[in-house]
Amino acid sequence: MRRITKNLITFLSGILLTALYCEFIIYYVVIAQCTWPELNIPRSRTELRALIIADTHLLGSRKGHWLDKWRREWQMHRAFQSIMTLHEPETVFVLGDLFDEGEWSSDKQFQDYVERFYKLFLVPDNVSMQTVVGNHDIGFHYNIRPGSAQRFFKSLNTSSVKMLTLKDNHFILLNSMAMEGDSCSLCREARYSIDKISRSLECSKYPDLCNDVSKLNYSRPILMQHFPLYRMSDALCTEPDAPPLPLRNKRFRNKIDSLSREATTYLTSKIKPRAVFGGHTHHGCLVHHKDDKENIEFYEYSVPSFSWRNRPDPKYMLVTIRPESYVVNKCGLPKETTIAITAVILVFITCYYSFRTRLIGRR
Ligand SMILES: [Zn+2]
Repeated sequence: MRRITKNLITFLSGILLTALYCEFIIYYVVIAQCTWPELNIPRSRTELRALIIADTHLLGSRKGHWLDKWRREWQMHRAFQSIMTLHEPETVFVLGDLFDEGEWSSDKQFQDYVERFYKLFLVPDNVSMQTVVGNHDIGFHYNIRPGSAQRFFKSLNTSSVKMLTLKDNHFILLNSMAMEGDSCSLCREARYSIDKISRSLECSKYPDLCNDVSKLNYSRPILMQHFPLYRMSDALCTEPDAPPLPLRNKRFRNKIDSLSREATTYLTSKIKPRAVFGGHTHHGCLVHHKDDKENIEFYEYSVPSFSWRNRPDPKYMLVTIRPESYVVNKCGLPKETTIAITAVILVFITCYYSFRTRLIGRR
């Protein structure tokens, strides 16, 4: 074989391997470094392994270049499928803002969105996927169009307030935009459902006080929603993936950046969560809540965005949950700069090995 043909084959093989590594294998290499957190007690049938992601923000027709859209969706698809293969979670929670332009979409566009979402974030039949609604999916409270919340709930098989029991662990999935505290139908319905759930939790905790026999085994529920609970700003966030300064100190707008203080007190007293998970800020944060009046304390986790469009180092959470306890691991995905530098180095090595012999030959 002529030397030039041989060099060309080496070069093309190198480029192919570089693409394979940077577009497929790198996700496995990074994701394999994170493992399920272990509870220091023997495994039992009530142990649930849950994957939590937030703010996937699939682009629509209005914003973003098609290449940006294609690239981000490919990255999230590869990352998610690699997570499913390596970690094998039993359930997946997606904490809102699945779509970037859900609030403006026509019904047809919204159905395309839903199909794309399920295609990108495909889960095996034995894994349940639970979604909560975000402001980009239906709009903030003041601009939710008639029917847009209902079409989200119908298409994504969820509701404004949904109680779910998985392996004896209770979860409450909440529409944060229904916590405005006014008399709109969405808020009224949400309040009615929360009061009902609260009663049923109370009955399972104190069966003697209730007439109807509760089928629930009591444990404090885990709250899943899009907004953070009330906080003044992210200034209290000390995680490495907290918002950068000065953004961290920017004052939160009430009911836009977080729930109101009233809604937070109401939820805390009604459902007494043992943990809260939310998205919306796109950054990480861990907040310790203590309510002396209710005599409860719990941690709230802000889950960083899963999209490379929102942060250079998207994250996801692996949570091992039992009715009596839970543990959390936050895992990173490959940084875009790492992928780019790896690609440049591999292409450089490929060029060196492909053309080195030719240069030596010429001499
Ligand atoms: Zn949001």
